[in-house]
Amino acid sequence: MILLCGLRRKKIRGRYLGIRYCRRCGRFQHFYLMRFNKQLTLFFVPVFWWTEMTWVGCGICNQGFQIDQKEAKRLDECYVSFPNEEKGRRIYEFCVDHAWNQENCPKNWDRLFEQVKERFALNGFDDDFKKLIRNIFAVQEAARCQSKIVD
Ligand SMILES: [Zn+2]
Repeated sequence: MILLCGLRRKKIRGRYLGIRYCRRCGRFQHFYLMRFNKQLTLFFVPVFWWTEMTWVGCGICNQGFQIDQKEAKRLDECYVSFPNEEKGRRIYEFCVDHAWNQENCPKNWDRLFEQVKERFALNGFDDDFKKLIRNIFAVQEAARCQSKIVD
């Protein structure tokens, strides 16, 4: 009897992590918890697999930054209640619109954060949304203020 076994690598897109700035795409994109699973196959059917690498990656180009298993587990559990892609997009558009608002000028991102929190009834993830808002300001004002984009 011939046993046909092999190894293959499979990319898995996991938990949604919101809209973040992608340096490779040069724009804001949906980000996900990504991982490469190594699979041991028997007659082309996976019989055993393990995680080879995990990273926070852009949904379009897959680029991002690598994280360890512990951090991946933490993010996976933490982001269970995070808004979905549709709500994430609406929050992003709201931020972009209001970032240009005179009341929020110049760079009053704390105030915009409060508006976002109130309008979308967000619980938790304060740091993520503050970072998103800060980066929206940074991108919009990069030419004038040379603001720094934060990963
Ligand atoms: Zn990208």
